[in-house]
Amino acid sequence: MPSYAYFQKKFVPLEEAKIGIMTHALHYGTAIFEGIRGNWNSQKKQTYIFRLKEHYERLARGCRVLKINLASSVDELCQLTVELVAKCGFQEDIYIRPVAFKSSQALGVRLHNLDDDFFAFVIPWGPYLDCDKARCCVSSWHRPEDNVIPPQIKAAGIYINNALAKTEAISNGFDEAIMLSPDGHVSEGSGENIFLVIDGKLVTPASQNNILIGITRNTVIELAEKELGIETVHRAIDRSELYTADECFLTGTAAHVTPVAEVDHRPIGNGEIGEITRKLQEIYARVIRGEHPGYMHWCTPVYNSGLKNQRSKTQVKNIK
Ligand code: PMP
Repeated sequence: MPSYAYFQKKFVPLEEAKIGIMTHALHYGTAIFEGIRGNWNSQKKQTYIFRLKEHYERLARGCRVLKINLASSVDELCQLTVELVAKCGFQEDIYIRPVAFKSSQALGVRLHNLDDDFFAFVIPWGPYLDCDKARCCVSSWHRPEDNVIPPQIKAAGIYINNALAKTEAISNGFDEAIMLSPDGHVSEGSGENIFLVIDGKLVTPASQNNILIGITRNTVIELAEKELGIETVHRAIDRSELYTADECFLTGTAAHVTPVAEVDHRPIGNGEIGEITRKLQEIYARVIRGEHPGYMHWCTPVYNSGLKNQRSKTQVKNIK
C-alpha cells in the first residue's frame, strides 16, 4: 500500500518527497525529529495517535535549541499529521516521523543564516525490538553531556552515539545496549528509557543522567501510580544495580514496554518477565490502542467514526 508525506507544505506520494544532496541537515545532523505511533484498533476500525501533542511540544523545544524556526504551531502540526495519517489509510500499527531541519543547500558548520523546513511521513511499523524480553549489555559508548550535545532533545546528529551503541550490542549477540552517563551512572537504551523494580518501587534515571525525557517514560510513571499505586523514584543508578534489580524494562514509543531478561549475561530476577513489568505492559497496551476509558485524552482518533473500507479512490485523487 503506497504511503504519503507532508513535504514542502503539500501531501505527496512518499517516493516524490526528495531533498538535495547539499541539504545542511544531511551533512551536520542539524535536524530535530520525532517518532510517534499510531496504534490500530481493529474492533473500532480506528487508528489512535498516542500523545501527539506531547511529541510536537518536544519537537518545538528541540527547535528552540537548534534555532529552527517552525512555520506551524504545535496545534497545526497535530492537525496536518492527523490528515496525513488519514490519507495513508493504513489498517495496522504505524510510525510517524516528523523532521524539522536546516534545509539550505549550503555548507558551513553553524546554526545561523540558514533556511528551515519541515516534513513528515508515515510507515507501517510493528514491534521495534524483535524479542519478547531483551538481552542487554552495558555499552562501551557513553551518553554525551548536555554541554556536548544535549540528550534531552531529539537532534539527528546525536544519534551517531545511539547507533554506535546499538550496533556494538547487536554485533556482540545482544538485543539492546544500555548506555552509561559520562560519570558512570545508568542512563538509557539506544532508543529507550530504562526502569528497574527495586523493593516494589520503580527506579529510573533522573533528567540529570543524560537521558531523553521519554513520553513513554512519563506515561509509565503515571500509569504505575494511578493504576497500580506504585511510586517512581528518580535517581542516579549504579551499574551493579542493574544486575541485582528485581525487574528491569525499557520504554519507548517504538519499543513500548519491553522487559529485560538479562544484562551482561546476568539474569534479572529469575530471567522471566517480572510481575510489575507484565502488569504495566498490559495496561500500556490497552491505553495506547484506545481501549482504556481513563486515558482516551492521550489518544487522537484519525477517522471520525472508524475506517469503514480500504482507502477510497476519491481520497487518493485529492492528495495529488
Ligand atoms: N531515549 C532515546 C535515546 C530515544 O531515542 C527514545 C525514543 N524516542 C527514548 C528514550 C524514549 O522516548 P519516547 O518514549 O518519547 O519515545
